[in-house]
Amino acid sequence: MPKQRLTILGSTGSVGASTLDVVSRHRDRFEVVALTARSQTDALFAQCVTWRPRFAVMSNPDAAQDLRRQLLKAGVECDVRAGTAALEEVASLTEVDTVMAAIVGIAGLRPTLAAARAGKKILLANKESLVTAGAVLMDAARESRATLLPIDSEHNAIFQALPRSCEGLGAAGVRRILLTASGGPFRTLSLRQFDDVTPEQACAHPNWAMGRKISVDSATMMNKGLEVIEARWLFDAAPAMIEVVIHPESVVHSLVEYVDGSVIAQLGNPDMRTPIAFALGFPDRIAAGVEFLDLPRVGALHFERPDPQRFPCLRLAYDALETSGTAPATLNAANEVAVASFLSGALRFSQIPRMIESVLAGSAFHPVNGIEDVLVADGLARSLAEDWLRARPAIGAGTFRQALGS
Ligand code: NAD
Ligand code: MG
Repeated sequence: MPKQRLTILGSTGSVGASTLDVVSRHRDRFEVVALTARSQTDALFAQCVTWRPRFAVMSNPDAAQDLRRQLLKAGVECDVRAGTAALEEVASLTEVDTVMAAIVGIAGLRPTLAAARAGKKILLANKESLVTAGAVLMDAARESRATLLPIDSEHNAIFQALPRSCEGLGAAGVRRILLTASGGPFRTLSLRQFDDVTPEQACAHPNWAMGRKISVDSATMMNKGLEVIEARWLFDAAPAMIEVVIHPESVVHSLVEYVDGSVIAQLGNPDMRTPIAFALGFPDRIAAGVEFLDLPRVGALHFERPDPQRFPCLRLAYDALETSGTAPATLNAANEVAVASFLSGALRFSQIPRMIESVLAGSAFHPVNGIEDVLVADGLARSLAEDWLRARPAIGAGTFRQALGS
């Protein structure tokens, strides 16, 4: 069997490292052609020494220069490139079969789209690209016959619970998609304490070890909101068919309910190596190195409805999805600025949804005809968010719903 040749975008991150961990267990099956990172030179250097990829890309040019020097000194041959165009290049190389899209944020959009246009097998972790440009990305993948496999554990679970050749949810007899959510570290914290939450507390997820941005998103449940939008595009699901249920144990990764009352779920320990191995091996099953599920040890599984007062970000995401057009890109950009500001100490945790709601309220939305529309909306939302940070208005934003194109 010829080896599957891989580009791993965002290889130094949490998903990137888990991907390399799975690959290390199957060196006969996979070959690493390209690795990428933003600015973590030491981490990418270590990966290049181990994996000897043909290409290494750093979006930061100074970091790329450092990496080049370090590799030369160590006698490791590798074509080091810099900048975002280079990310698109390694995402669409002819000698690459599979692209793991594991950059965080909208920074992953262009390279993921490049992989889709090049007809690659895409392992999609970068949910922000689907949230902001779902129609563009899905169209590109369809036209070039790219295979899109979800890495997000919930969407991977849904994919596994749907029939293999699914001609649409209606034809498959699907009634609802149930996305599970852990509820994050503040599921039971008193609302009065939300003002004083620190980045360290927000990043200490009870079940999953993840990058800092998605950890904060899990704490606000914006992560689940983004995942609702992601599910809408991946499975062509009407928003009303997608429901969120809190499940603190993170053992049931999501469920599909059929019209006959059957509910099919995928279970496993919360370890990203399971969905990653599923997608890497697809359609074969390969070992992931995870601890197997011991149900008696888990003991009990719990489910509850999300509290809209505790998690206003969830409603903001549903509203943006319903508004459609550039609204999800605006939501995403405002959230990226809010999370970065919270992590740097410039914003309180409780202000995250307020800032996002205020940016949405101040934005006009337009149909998305191409990636440029998305990037313009992204830029405008970022500057509105920065304005908000400077002005710090009093709490209380109205509803942001505006007619599309108004
Ligand atoms: P992370 O922060 O740990 O890693 C991000 C990676 O992207 C790093 O390699 C970093 O160098 C690179 N990167 C960051 N900004 C960049 C930029 N501007 N240009 C180029 N590269 C850049 O993030 P993560 O937790 O691994 O998450 C990656 C993606 O996967 C996110 O979209 C996240 O929502 C999704 N995801 C993650 C998990 C998880 O368990 N970590 C689960 C589901 C989905
Ligand atoms: Mg998820």
